[in-house]
Amino acid sequence: MSTRTPFIAGNWKMHLDHLEAIQLVQQLSYRLNPRDIAEVEIAVIPPFTALRSIQTLIEGDKLELGLGAQDAHWEDSGAYTGAVAPPMLAKLAVDYVLVGHSERRSRFGDDDDVVARKLGAVQRHGMIPILCVGETLEERDAGRAEEVVDRQLRAALAGLDRPHEVVIAYEPVWAIGTGRTATPDDADHMCAAVRRIVGEIGGDTQAVRVQYGGSVKAGNAGDLLARPDIDGALVGGASLDPDGFAAICRAG
Ligand code: PEP
Repeated sequence: MSTRTPFIAGNWKMHLDHLEAIQLVQQLSYRLNPRDIAEVEIAVIPPFTALRSIQTLIEGDKLELGLGAQDAHWEDSGAYTGAVAPPMLAKLAVDYVLVGHSERRSRFGDDDDVVARKLGAVQRHGMIPILCVGETLEERDAGRAEEVVDRQLRAALAGLDRPHEVVIAYEPVWAIGTGRTATPDDADHMCAAVRRIVGEIGGDTQAVRVQYGGSVKAGNAGDLLARPDIDGALVGGASLDPDGFAAICRAG
């Protein structure tokens, strides 16, 4: 039995204005009985425009909810129109920042070097990066899934003293937003590979938390989260439905 606290995070992507975001957090908190989720850590990751409202709600209502941001620049300030700097997020009491999500890698050109810089900046400002790694369908079919994840992990974590202080989300690209989930066996196998690689880089394999992400929903969360090397889930689409997300949290 692992001593790692299961961690369920909802990535809302580019959905919900700040009023809708407040509503969703309220709906979620009504559905989460503290007794059912005493052993689980839960975070929501709204768009930037909702961070301040959600932070106020969490603090005001003393909700047991972590707050995440979907991205951050690597510089502390500067002429980077449209970007958000890590100290700005830290000031908003942001706990987690997604780094290297496959949508950032494929649509915004975040390559391994950019991912490493963002990850370092997030950590420097006292927040925990959630590093997303995962292979495309082509790479999986070519038998290269582990090789790709190995490269992504080493590029992002190699320079760190304590690589296990990063949360890793193993998210096969072909499972994100497609309704197609990795089987619990496959997901567990890859999460175990992530843990082993973090160990090779110098991290504590028993401490690092490895989430699975890719079309997680209420109906499959229990099977996935019961596996020994899956420590939680990064949930996209299903995190926008308070009933579904609450059920996933209870499965943790
Ligand atoms: C994600 O955005 O990280 C994700 C896993 O999305 P979905 O759950 O919709 O596949």
